[in-house]
Amino acid sequence: MTNTKQRDDNKGFRLPESIAQEMDKLIGTHGFTSRAEIAKQAIREYLEKIRSEENLHMVNHGDNGVKVRDTKLGRVADIQITPNGIYCPVCDASNCEHIRFALMQPDIQKIVTKKRKEGWKLPDV
Ligand SMILES: [Zn+2]
Repeated sequence: MTNTKQRDDNKGFRLPESIAQEMDKLIGTHGFTSRAEIAKQAIREYLEKIRSEENLHMVNHGDNGVKVRDTKLGRVADIQITPNGIYCPVCDASNCEHIRFALMQPDIQKIVTKKRKEGWKLPDV
């Protein structure tokens, strides 16, 4: 691939009409004001998802926590699910790639949904 070709790839591309229509419905909601903003957000999240899936692996989980192995850091994030929220001790955060990865897992989504109904302060999944 030449440099000229790479630059051309960055200029723009056509979207299927069906996707464009779905995007237009979102403009004016979620803070979006243009298709470009939606596209950037969607691509950013998708790239993060791919990156996460390469480096992160579920070790095990119970009702009160999830262990996520991070092969990039060489550590296991022992994520805690408590009535006051979700917490990752590796990042000292309630929103990090380990938590986002955990919340993508169907088993964890079930637990979080159940606990939310019980009044736990957990993210909507
Ligand atoms: Zn983390």
